[in-house]
Amino acid sequence: MLTVYTGPMFSGKTEALIRAVKRTRYSEQPTQVFVPASDTRNGVGVVRSHAGLDLESLGISAWSVDPADAVSLADRVRPGTKVVAVDEAQFFDASLIENIRTLLRRDLRIYVAGLDCDYRGEPFGPMPQILALADEVFKLTAVCATCNHDQARMTYRRSAETSQVLLGSEDVYAPMCRCCYNNATRKR
Ligand code: ADP
Ligand code: MG
Ligand code: ZN
Repeated sequence: MLTVYTGPMFSGKTEALIRAVKRTRYSEQPTQVFVPASDTRNGVGVVRSHAGLDLESLGISAWSVDPADAVSLADRVRPGTKVVAVDEAQFFDASLIENIRTLLRRDLRIYVAGLDCDYRGEPFGPMPQILALADEVFKLTAVCATCNHDQARMTYRRSAETSQVLLGSEDVYAPMCRCCYNNATRKR
């Protein structure tokens, strides 16, 4: 079964993933967590939410995977593993999709967290296909940085940098409702 947590930055995707992983300990399901090696905001192989909640403090360390080589991800899943969690899935290349299908065929329980869209509002990396394969999708929202409405679904980039991947937090990105996002991008 595949569950996906998606939405803009600050919507609580990582928190939801951490909660799910935490619960697998109580059900004693061997779990492995994967993150792209390119996401170095909190250090290599670290899953930490913007509020500072992290897996390391729960004694769970994540495997850091080359995002251009997700092929190796399924190979790294140990025979006894029952649950696989992947954070920042949008950074992986398309091979993540086949890996997930392989794991689903092995009856694993999979949790994926990732941005649905980039700062332009374009679907991000392998997320569209992963969302299509999902049994369950949670589209999470954040609080709009401009009007405080709690239905922010877009990620606005404060800088003029135009590459799709630009690591940053509140310094670079702001969650916005569609109305404020439209206003902000029109001004550019
Ligand atoms: P994501 O993985 O979706 O980027 P995280 O799980 O890392 O989100 O962080 C969610 C946390 O971010 C919230 O619980 C809250 O403490 C914090 N946060 C900061 N700014 C906002 C905002 N504008 N809206 C909602 N949560 C915010
Ligand atoms: Mg996150
Ligand atoms: Zn708004």
